[in-house]
Amino acid sequence: MTRLAQPPATDTAAQPAAEHVNHWINGRRVAGTSGRSGPVYNPATGELARRVDFASAEEVDAAVAAAKKAFPGWRATSLSRRTEILFRIRNLVEQHRAEIAAHLTREHGKVHTDAMGEVSRGLENLEFATGVPHLLKGSFSEQVSTGIDVYQIRQPLGVVAGITPFNFPAMVPMWMFGNAIACGNTFILKPSEKDPSASVYLAELLAEAGVPDGVFNVVNGDKVAVDRILEHPDIAAVSFVGSTPIARYIYETGTKAGKRVQALGGAKNHMLVLPDADIEMAADAAVSAAYGSAGERCMAISVVVAVGDVADPLIDAIKQRLPKIKVAPGDEPGAEMGPLITREHRDKVASYLDSGRSQGADLVVDGREHPLYRDGEGFFLGVSLLDRVTPDMDCYRNEIFGPVMEIVRADSYTDGVRLINDNPYANGTAIFTRDGGAARQFQFDINVGMVGLNVPIPVPVAYYSFGGWKNSLFGDLHMYGPEGIQFYTRAKVVTARWPDPGTSKVDLGFPRTR
Ligand code: NAD
Repeated sequence: MTRLAQPPATDTAAQPAAEHVNHWINGRRVAGTSGRSGPVYNPATGELARRVDFASAEEVDAAVAAAKKAFPGWRATSLSRRTEILFRIRNLVEQHRAEIAAHLTREHGKVHTDAMGEVSRGLENLEFATGVPHLLKGSFSEQVSTGIDVYQIRQPLGVVAGITPFNFPAMVPMWMFGNAIACGNTFILKPSEKDPSASVYLAELLAEAGVPDGVFNVVNGDKVAVDRILEHPDIAAVSFVGSTPIARYIYETGTKAGKRVQALGGAKNHMLVLPDADIEMAADAAVSAAYGSAGERCMAISVVVAVGDVADPLIDAIKQRLPKIKVAPGDEPGAEMGPLITREHRDKVASYLDSGRSQGADLVVDGREHPLYRDGEGFFLGVSLLDRVTPDMDCYRNEIFGPVMEIVRADSYTDGVRLINDNPYANGTAIFTRDGGAARQFQFDINVGMVGLNVPIPVPVAYYSFGGWKNSLFGDLHMYGPEGIQFYTRAKVVTARWPDPGTSKVDLGFPRTR
């Protein structure tokens, strides 16, 4: 079975020679018919690698129709059969981990080791979903009144959709679709148009695993596809991960159309380092968490809050580590940090170095001095470090989403906590200290959804759920794990009584159950 994107029979795009990434509808690859497509680059070389078809509203409708048709059969498929299929999906993803990772490196730019890690974290979510028979167990109350039992069951919603960002092209879809289909829903995925190939590849693996036609569909595209998803009357729920303005838009538009929505947004994650912290450990953690995946992680540390006199030794320890980071194309052996996703994004990230400096920050390390930034064709930017950043600066107020670490100096623990709690984003945060009492107090005080104690990127394992607070999440339920199961099902409560001759009578009163 060939799993690479095939060019359509006729190419309507501006670049006729480019290979196309198609949609996946009703169990097969479907070439776009809208006449619209977008570029997909290899960020390491800057070359146009392929084009991705952009769905029209009608193409979205076709995917929804397939998903709607598949729903009754899939919903009625026994739990044991669904579990068997989920195990096969899990095994195929594990077997093809390297191929999925190769798609990620080619289109996102992340280095191979990081791409393999992304697949592993996605795989965890598929493993969680294989426990669906246990997860869907309801509850039962016997004899709530004489001869009457009450029980609750959880049932799927119907057709549900996922809209995903560029920075985790495989893991974030796996956050969503494993649980969604395990619960008996059928699924429409609208991946990022910047790196769509992994999604279509996953669709092929799902088909090979025995997922029936129409249960899992991929529509590629832009706002046209997203807007059709948000307004489509046959889509019951939307999971979204992306930037805050779009998350807010998805939440407002989707809920207005009567859908259940969970919309995860952007981030500005702070790492608070207390004076008693292990400096070497804190420096290792800050560097790994700020520059891993070129800072394009929603849980990346972008601000280090150095409390009191820890700042100078901490910055020295960080600075020592920076020249050793190997910035290179993601498929090069030993590469630790790859390029950014697009040239525009790279330039926007770099612009914060000038704005930070002009607003009073110290540009301690300038990533634009890296040879791959100066001379390369790809979208590289070396690692950058801004010290003496303050909350009024643009580089602090915005999510940079690139390899830029900012240091804010705080006088005390209280000042540091206030800074973090005043920030409108609240995805992840971490404290570095040897003091258990201080760490416990931080966990109590901080208004952030995911907290690390000497752990810089506290992404929950798949049997917890993932989600920030404030502008980092719109909706009530976090993603994946137990809250994912809750999101993709609705409760039905049954009150049951069986004929018991002689006990039945007309009674117009409100039931007296005692
Ligand atoms: P994005 O918001 O630009 O795009 C996300 C999705 O929305 C894509 O599928 C895209 O096609 C679609 N989209 C973009 N603009 C749209 C519009 N105007 N109308 C309708 N749909 C639109 O995000 P991105 O740049 O792909 O991803 C990076 C962002 O995602 C960062 O802000 C990052 O923090 C965030 N993110 C958050 C989490 C989290 O869990 N909170 C995880 C990963 C990424």
